[in-house]
Amino acid sequence: MGNFLVTGGAGYVGSHLVRALADRGDTVVVVDDLRQGHRAAVPAGVELIQLDLADRRSLAEIFAGWKFEAVFHFAALSLVGESMRDPLRYCIENLSNSLGLADAAVKAGVMRFVLSSTAALFGDPEAVPIPEEAKLAPTNAYGESKLMVEKGLAWADRVHGLRFACLRYFNAAGADPQGRIGEDHEPETHLVPLAIGAALGTRQPLTVFGTDYPTPDGTCIRDYVHVTDLADAHLRVLERLEQGSVRYNVGSGTGYSVKQVIEAVERIGGRPVPHSLGPRRAGDPAVLVASSERLKAETGWAPRFGALDDIVRTAWAWHSARPQGYGDR
Ligand code: UDP
Repeated sequence: MGNFLVTGGAGYVGSHLVRALADRGDTVVVVDDLRQGHRAAVPAGVELIQLDLADRRSLAEIFAGWKFEAVFHFAALSLVGESMRDPLRYCIENLSNSLGLADAAVKAGVMRFVLSSTAALFGDPEAVPIPEEAKLAPTNAYGESKLMVEKGLAWADRVHGLRFACLRYFNAAGADPQGRIGEDHEPETHLVPLAIGAALGTRQPLTVFGTDYPTPDGTCIRDYVHVTDLADAHLRVLERLEQGSVRYNVGSGTGYSVKQVIEAVERIGGRPVPHSLGPRRAGDPAVLVASSERLKAETGWAPRFGALDDIVRTAWAWHSARPQGYGDR
């Protein structure tokens, strides 16, 4: 069992990886500035260091104090809509924090690095499902910022031998099947928690962003991947890094429209999702669906919660049990 550094480990996806590592007996150090993360998302026995990644000196001290086997880097700005209002902040902050972290890792001799990347790299894809070789052409500044980070890591590999994995997440959704942790963002911008919140009456009615896309029902199609399956992908790529750096798409391989997600929430929750139809959101591609064949073939990964209903069921259980999320705001 090893020592691992997880940045953003108090956040939504990161906390699910932290549980998976802790559950199998690894030692985990979480670095999180707690702007979006939650102390209560980090289990007892895991050290949580509250730190902004821009604080390079403290970061170097953390690396000096531990002998990490790998870094899992989740902490980042990650909202498409916000990135289209403040693109430079996204590019500057995501690039400097991510590559500053990689630099600290290399200087400390930690040569395995797993990056949370995104399907937003692909922009409006030429074909779906999207393989890793598809053209990289982000339609939003968030995607561009992650693309720049991926490129920086490739140079660190070439020059320093840093082994990195870029995991291009499609739409992370769902909650820990044991109900210990789940999604709690403020502001919340993601479809599944907003639809569930609207149905539970804990949030405003949902607005559907665009009904004139070239899709069967006119709403955007996305590939929703369960957050526990995402965490599992991280554990598997770690082993794969022995053979060199990798880039993988991580999704279920099935696309669902916004309307289909609303229907799933209504079916599982047994309540209507109050909603209205609105205009498109800037930067949203019409369809994003992953081909995760490379990840499956090279690591043996397969989604255990691959159906949309599994995602909605675990998310519904979390939000109805914890209508205020972690209750720390
Ligand atoms: N969406 C929506 N209403 C909302 C939030 C999201 O119609 O209030 C749509 C959004 O346009 C996209 C899909 O739901 O097509 C998933 O969006 P989300 O923000 O959850 O994830 P993203 O695809 O941006 O990573």
